[in-house]
Amino acid sequence: RRATALAGSTGEGATRDGTKVALLANIGTADDAVNAAAKDLEGSGLFRTEFLFLERDQAPSLEEQTATYTKVFEAFGDRRVVVRTLDAGADKPLSFANLGEEDNPALGRRGLRLGMIREDLLDTQIQALAAAYEKVGGDVRVMAPMVATLDETRYFAEKVRAAGLPKVGVMVEVPAAALRAEQILSIVDFVSIGTNDLSQYTMAADRMQGELAPLLDPWQPAVLQLIKSTCGGGRATGKPVGVCGEAGGDPLLALVLVGLGVSSLSMAPGRVPAVRAALRLHDLATCQQMAAYAVDAGSATAAKEAVMGIVHPNL
Ligand code: PEP
Ligand code: MG
Repeated sequence: RRATALAGSTGEGATRDGTKVALLANIGTADDAVNAAAKDLEGSGLFRTEFLFLERDQAPSLEEQTATYTKVFEAFGDRRVVVRTLDAGADKPLSFANLGEEDNPALGRRGLRLGMIREDLLDTQIQALAAAYEKVGGDVRVMAPMVATLDETRYFAEKVRAAGLPKVGVMVEVPAAALRAEQILSIVDFVSIGTNDLSQYTMAADRMQGELAPLLDPWQPAVLQLIKSTCGGGRATGKPVGVCGEAGGDPLLALVLVGLGVSSLSMAPGRVPAVRAALRLHDLATCQQMAAYAVDAGSATAAKEAVMGIVHPNL
């Protein structure tokens, strides 16, 4: 019922009263980029670059990476592309960057931490992104995964800026980053919340362990409170906060995220029409009321129920 009522919606994302919310696709390959770009959406809010690196004996060359990034940027033209630098390590090991076994891989040398150890890999990737950007132009933004500190943020921002790339950001997927969002945003141009890992690290529950799903629910008020903290940093600095975890593709939760202050939502491309339609049915003030109810709720279930209580009947 919901899907049929909402599937026809097209155009820019916005609430009923016109607050813009960019609706973006999560992609992982150049083919994904071409497919997503053919759809009615505003770009990519998360280009996961891991596929270029995993299951290989050697790192991809500068030339190969440049060619792939060029294809992705060309596919989207003037539309936004947010590229995430390599998020490997730990449970996504690289045979050519053998750092040894770890007892707690999710808490180990992954994401930007790996990039800081194997700086050659990070530097080559940033160089390739800069070369593709120089060729194609467009609205290219580059962000780092698994950032926890201001020092890491500065380290990454300096590299990306020195390469001549126009915009740099970091992911907020560690509670430390959510709590320090204002300071982080005083260094970079934007942040994007990864709700999958933010849930895992907030609730101390392994995202790969299915029976922990109730703890990993992004409706957990503690997770929402950290998203609220991140958006507070956005407001204080006047810089944008996006979401690129799975939560952004849930139409009901998308309303809550927008109410908290998130200005872009990146999701599996097939989810965009339903999220767009949900936004169009609700004013920003209603989203803000939903957000207040959800953050104040005593449980994930209670948060969802409270929001359901004021949702538009057509959703
Ligand atoms: C996330 O953690 O929410 C995220 C978007 O990144 P990934 O799922 O690739 O870890
Ligand atoms: Mg993540």
